[in-house]
Amino acid sequence: INTIGVLTSGGDAPGMNAAIRAVVREALSKGKKVKGIKRGYAGLLNEEIIDMDEHSVSDIISRGGTILQTARCLEFKQPEVQQKGAEICKKHGIDGIVVIGGDGSFQGAQKLANHGINTIGVPGTIDLDIACTDYTIGFDTAINTAMEAIDKVRDTSTSHDRCSVIEVMGRGAGYIAMWCGIANGAEEILIPEKYDHDEAALIERIKENRKKGKQHYIIINAEGIGDSQGLAKRIEAATGMESRATILGHMQRGGSPSCKDRMYASIMGAYAVDILCEGKSNRVVAHADGKFCDFDIDEALAMTKSVSEYEYEIAKNLV
Ligand code: ADP
Repeated sequence: INTIGVLTSGGDAPGMNAAIRAVVREALSKGKKVKGIKRGYAGLLNEEIIDMDEHSVSDIISRGGTILQTARCLEFKQPEVQQKGAEICKKHGIDGIVVIGGDGSFQGAQKLANHGINTIGVPGTIDLDIACTDYTIGFDTAINTAMEAIDKVRDTSTSHDRCSVIEVMGRGAGYIAMWCGIANGAEEILIPEKYDHDEAALIERIKENRKKGKQHYIIINAEGIGDSQGLAKRIEAATGMESRATILGHMQRGGSPSCKDRMYASIMGAYAVDILCEGKSNRVVAHADGKFCDFDIDEALAMTKSVSEYEYEIAKNLV
């Protein structure tokens, strides 16, 4: 490997900059050249490729977002477009590439590997929905951002005896909702993996709770269920309790990364360069069983995981 390319793809996540910085500095320390590819696979196809030196990544470890920017590029699902992507890498002398993103981005990485570009994925998503790893870059920051916001909503809900439906991100996965649900002491945690859509039972629980004298009712609703406004309206109509929906939205993706996200993203970025230099390709970096490791991308994409049954059951006992 002589020249390593790095790109961020899919949704951005706090800590991606720390990973980019680590890729650049680890590669330079091993005498490699580094090129930054802007806007994910879209930027690759447009040849938005820049040379990176140690100063290109100065002062970014504490910043949210991604200095390389990111994009969704649907045409990269087409085989002829993937081949063109690989040819562009070769044209720019890029013989190894680090793709920071989620499962979708890893599928693109897998295709580049099939076309002879050595490729390593680094898990970057606030959603934690990558099966081979118990850690993804950005999740820790996102749950802390959401937790602090939910605390604030909770204060005002208590003052007004309100029911609050608070929607958190996570796409099809309920990890952010589960963590915040427990950390914020929510009365309900609605996650796509578990929710039975029995709204009559939910409303009954709210009425019971009211009788017990609780001053608020906090419902953490996952993005994968959605319809928070509708749910709040139906609760108000059925219980008479003033109900409001708060959709936290993109604030959960921004902000200065937490210490854990900076630290893990740094190690994962450097790890990706290390295994590229060992000649590995079509691998994804992970954190599992208490240590950093890597998996074959094909195997990683075939794995599944779900929220912890035990944690979900415990959460119900703690309200
Ligand atoms: P994430 O990487 O966070 O899962 P997406 O699912 O949006 O986000 O995927 C990011 C990008 O990865 C897509 O816009 C596309 O460019 C590329 N991608 C997704 N799926 C595939 C696929 N099956 N083959 C090739 N590239 C893909």
